[in-house]
Order: sequence, then structure tokens, then C-alpha cells
Amino acid sequence: MTVEAHKETRGFQTEAKQLLHLMIHSLYSNREIFLRELVSNASDAADKLRFKAVSDDSLYEGDSDLKIRIGFDKDAKTITVTDNGIGMNREEVIENLGTIAKSGTAAFLEQLSGDQKKDSQLIGQFGVGFYSAFIVADKVVVTTRKAGTPANEAVRWECSGEADFTIENTEQAERGTSIELHLKDDALEFADHWRLRSIIKKYSDHISLPIVMQKPASTDDSDEKTPEDETINTATALWTRSRSEITDEEYKEFYKHISHDFEDPVSWSHNRVEGKLDYTSLLYLPARAPFDLYNRDAARGLKLYVQRTFIMDDAEQFLPLYLRFIKGVVDSNDLSLNVSREILQKDPNIDNMRTALTKRALDMLNKLAKNEPEQYASFWKEFGQVLKEGPAEDHANKDKIAKLLRFSTTHTDKPEQDQSLDDYISRMQDGQDKIYYIAAENFNTAKNSPHLEVFRKKGIEVLLLCDRVDEWLMSHLMDYDGKQLQDVGKGELDLGKLDSEDEKKEQEKVAEELKPLLERVKAALSDKVEDVRLTHRLTESPACVVVPEHEMGAQMRRILEAAGQKLPESKAIFELNPEHPLVQKLNGETSDERFNDLASVLFDQANLAEGAHLEDPAAYVQRLNKLLLELSH
Ligand code: ADP
Ligand code: MG
Repeated sequence: MTVEAHKETRGFQTEAKQLLHLMIHSLYSNREIFLRELVSNASDAADKLRFKAVSDDSLYEGDSDLKIRIGFDKDAKTITVTDNGIGMNREEVIENLGTIAKSGTAAFLEQLSGDQKKDSQLIGQFGVGFYSAFIVADKVVVTTRKAGTPANEAVRWECSGEADFTIENTEQAERGTSIELHLKDDALEFADHWRLRSIIKKYSDHISLPIVMQKPASTDDSDEKTPEDETINTATALWTRSRSEITDEEYKEFYKHISHDFEDPVSWSHNRVEGKLDYTSLLYLPARAPFDLYNRDAARGLKLYVQRTFIMDDAEQFLPLYLRFIKGVVDSNDLSLNVSREILQKDPNIDNMRTALTKRALDMLNKLAKNEPEQYASFWKEFGQVLKEGPAEDHANKDKIAKLLRFSTTHTDKPEQDQSLDDYISRMQDGQDKIYYIAAENFNTAKNSPHLEVFRKKGIEVLLLCDRVDEWLMSHLMDYDGKQLQDVGKGELDLGKLDSEDEKKEQEKVAEELKPLLERVKAALSDKVEDVRLTHRLTESPACVVVPEHEMGAQMRRILEAAGQKLPESKAIFELNPEHPLVQKLNGETSDERFNDLASVLFDQANLAEGAHLEDPAAYVQRLNKLLLELSH
């Protein structure tokens, strides 16, 4: 057999170059992780081969004993990581080792600040993978042959620097990939049996296939014996072991292996289910949101195994969308080895597993919230917005999810979302039977809304909502713990038992007196308002606008309109504060022109205070200036 070499030199993609440079220079303090990354890739390659061989076992080429071999040569200053996994063909080598095709790379690079310290933390989140070889090596040679291809179609990839790499065809009898690291002078310490062994133990013990090394040659007279191999790791799938035998460190390393994340997970939940269904799951809560969390097409889901055989990444059928940040594995003993995504979608057993796994994930969050509130707070910052999608998607777990929600409220008046509905309920006043909230475009608009005046005066707490999903969330939540959730900007204000009988009598009397005023205002603003009425929700402001009880909230409306949706026109209800001097002035106004101007100005101001845009701002300014000029006369 002859080999046509087709040697060519190729430049790295600009982004890859930039990232490569950064990684190599910012990970200096933890150089040993290069081995973890290479072993992790070798293990993935074995998983992929096993999976393909389920339907075509000729791919094993007579050797189904999959393993990873680590070797080193002190004199040649090299370390070699070899696997007999799936291997790569020429295109795959170029695709996988010449570009950084991870989703979000561009977004990631945009976030870099140029500040070494900050950037190295960011890199940590991104994960370095194969390129971590260059932390310790100044030259890397990859020789690989894809399972099922002829020996002379192997590929040799070589790279000694940040600019370019060469690729050529070569011959290799064994299937799989061998990675040869030519160590930098300052990294020679790694070409050592005990050092390599301890790194494998530390980071790769959980890898389910054997990682073998040659036993070190002993110094006594056993020269002629051929060196023996030794398996360094435990080499059983971590999730099959019992919880009590697995250390936290092992759980964490396993997480990094399956998630390709660089940071420790916040917590995990490992369970075996036996009975009608038989499966094991290991779910992890990551510390940080990926860059593509809000990209609905981004990969999500669990790694699926069937009887210890890897089947697929990103099996999304096992968790709902609002828990898409959860990582982990599920290993089923019931599914068939050639299960496909289509089959998963139809299998009713998958629904049962999904229900159970959803419950596990929510329980894990609940436990974190209870036992480690600080950790939970940082979880909320990263993923709270996603969890807020929950009540709409998963009605059955609405109450469980609601318990996990965190809000800003008038109790703290801070933008931090750190108060739960239970916190709110514990502070409710005697006679209060509703949970009040206000939704606005941003925190300050919510916090300073005139709608809150009476609540502040009476010391009643109100949730301050300003995230885009909030009104959507509230419209699905409806109630919590038997208490209705009430938008204070919607419908007639009814404080129920929170208003005293005397207050109510007084309000009725005033309403009777001011009837003519309301009729007059209604006539003046007839094309803009649905109705005009008196209000007792204001103490400082002269007026406010309210959304009719059964209509969409103002904030939701703005979002939908901004997204280009055509909505039926809705007129607001205009409410006047009878105690306010401007309203009293309006009541005594005899000039129709001035009455109309003042009424219009009050109406426009009420809209401005809500964060709304005026239809005719210039007219507002003119009227206001006219009134100001009269003041100075
Ligand atoms: P990741 O493992 O997160 O996908 P890496 O940078 O570690 O990213 O690896 C890039 C890609 O290179 C892998 O996805 C895989 O396709 C390929 N690859 C790396 N090492 C091997 C190997 N030993 N055998 C087969 N393919 C490999
Ligand atoms: Mg990898």
C-alpha cells in the first residue's frame, strides 16, 4: 500500500489563534489539566466507537478491548496519549483541530476585556479542550485513523506554534488517535511516571475505560522481563458506583468531563431507580450560565447511556426547557441500544422519566435554597430568568417552581432579586389576603410608580417586577399558597380589610361630591380614556392610569408591540386623587380651555410616570408651558 501524503500547511482561523494564545498564557498556574482534557477526548472517542459498533461491529476491526494508553520518554521529552476509539479522517482533523467551532465563540471573545486576570476567569468558563496540549508542549503531533478506513488513510497533524499547522496522510495499522506532546523545557517535570499517575488519579479516575501505563522498570535484576502494563484508574462508569463510595472530587471531575465546563458544579443529585423503570441518573447544577442560554436552538439535555453504552449527547427529552441549564447523564436499562431521538419523543416511558427527573432537579434546587442561600443567590443571578419560564411550561410543578422564585420588593427597595414569596407572606399584614406586584420596564420605574403610594403609606409590601418575562410569569402563576397575585396597576384598587370602615364611608362621600368633575374630565379626554374615576391609591401624585381588570398589563403590551405584534387598541382608566391640590384646582376651574389643558397635562404625566411614550409629546410640552406662563402672571 502506498500513501499519498497530500501535505499541506493551513493557518488557524483568526478566532482560534486568538483563543489559543490566551489559553496558553492564562492557564499557567494549573498546567496539569492538559492530561485531563486529552483523556476526556480519548474517552469520548471510545464512547463514539462503541455506539457506532452497536449497528456495525466490523468497526472494532477485531479489537473491542477499548483503552487509553499514556506513555512518556524522558530523553525524547515527550508524552503520548493513545486511544483505540473512533479516530478521525482528514476532514474531521481539519474541522476539529483547526477551528474552534464551539457555539458562542464570537460572543465569548467579545466579552474579553484585555485584563489578564478577568480574562483567565472567563477562559475557565469556556473550557480549553484539545488546545490545552499547548500549555505544556511547543509541538503537538496527532496521528489518527478513523475506524473502518484503510491503514493508508491515516492522518498526521502537526503544529508547533500559534500560527499554522500541517496535515498529511500517513499509514497507521491501529485504529484510533495518538497525541504526542513535545514538552517545553519548563514542563519536563511531567515526563515522569509518578507525576502522570497522580494526575490521572486526581482528574480521570472516573473515566469508564482503563487508562494504562507501563509499570516503571525496577532497579533489580529483572531486565529481561518485558515491562508490564498497569491500569491506573478505577475504570467503572462513575454513576454505576454507590453514592457513599464516590468522593466530592470525583463527582466534580466527572461533571467537567461530561459538561466540558471548566468550573466546579454547584451541586448534584445521583439516583438509582428500580422497579417498573430501571435507570440511573446523575444531574448537575452548573455554576455559570453558558453563553447561549437564551438561544433556543442551543444544545441542551442529558448524556444518554443504555446499559452503560453511550448513545447520544444532548438528549433533550428528559428535562423541560426551563431546566435546560441542568447537565448530567441518564443510563437506562429499559431502552434499546439503537434508540433514536424520534423513538425517544414517542416513548411514554420517557415521559415518566422526565417527570421524575424534573422533580429531582427541582428538589436539588430547593435543597440548595434551604441549605446554602448564598449559593442559591448566585444560582438565581445566573439562571433565575430561565426558571421564571417554568410556571408557563410546567403547570403541574407551578407551586414547586414558585417556591424557588426570587423577587425585588418594596421591603428592600433594592434591584437585587433576593426575596421569596414565602418571605413576602411572612411579612403580610393582618387582613391582607393578596400578594401585590407591579410590573414596569425597569426597576426605577417600578419602584417609583405612583401606584405604590398608598401601599407605602400603609406599609404593605409590593413585588417590583421589571424583567421581560415577569408579566408572562405572573399570568401563569395566578396564585401562591392560596393567595391571589394582584397587579396593582390593573383594575379597581380593593384593599379589602386593609381599608377601615371609616375610610370607606369617607371615600363614598367624596365620590358623590366629585361626580360632576369626573364627567367633565371624561368629556375632555373622551378619545383617550375608557373611564375616569377617583382613586385612593395615590398620596403624592395627582393622577395615574390603570389597565382595565381583564386586559393585558401595560408592560406586556409594550413588549409585544415592540416585537411587532398588532394588538387591539386599549384605552386606560384615568384615576384622580381627590386630595391633591391640582385636582382640587381642576375642580374649581371655570375656563373650559384651561380645564382641558390641565386635564390633558395630568393625563400625559400619569402616562409618563408609567414609563409610557406619549402619542403627541410636543402637544404636552406646549400645554405645560402655557400653564407655567400663567403661573408667572
Ligand atoms: P470538546 O471535547 O469539548 O468537543 P476539544 O477541543 O477537547 O473539544 O476537542 C475537539 C474535537 O476534536 C472533539 O470534539 C473531537 O471531535 C475531536 N477529538 C479530539 N481528540 C480526539 C480523539 N482522541 N479521538 C477522536 N476525536 C478527537
Ligand atoms: Mg474535549
